[in-house]
Amino acid sequence: MYKNILVPVLIDEHHDTQASYLAAQALADEGAKFTVLHVMETIPTFVASQLPKEIMDKSWHEAEKALKQSAAALPGAATCLESGHPGRFIVDFAKENGIDCIIIASHRPGIEDYFLGSTAARVVRHAQCAVHVIR
Ligand code: ADP
Repeated sequence: MYKNILVPVLIDEHHDTQASYLAAQALADEGAKFTVLHVMETIPTFVASQLPKEIMDKSWHEAEKALKQSAAALPGAATCLESGHPGRFIVDFAKENGIDCIIIASHRPGIEDYFLGSTAARVVRHAQCAVHVIR
């Protein structure tokens, strides 16, 4: 059904990415391209300037490693680690890279009372392509 699928993920113990990867495979055309994206929240400059570079580099490398490990569950997926505002970055990335479907989780497990988390809500509202929300 889709040829160029973006799967934005949070890579911490509260978020399960498996359902997103399964949906990506189910909705993909043969030969579809997958990109698993994680956006590191930008740290305000006045905070970042106080942190040693080694700490910043270490957290970046750890995120890169965790992202690759997670994305291994989606065969053939490329990974992309960027920094910025997650909601805005995901929407812009989709537009700039010809994404035809974004697969996003609705929110972290355990807060089902909320219809959508803030990042998911922004993506649903602003994306110009199809958005598949995992609930
Ligand atoms: P919650 O605040 O409950 O975690 P969010 O809307 O922030 O709700 O997250 C829902 C989903 O949005 C995540 O499971 C993930 O798919 C996507 N998402 C949120 N933040 C990021 C991020 N920084 N990078 C990539 N994807 C994200």
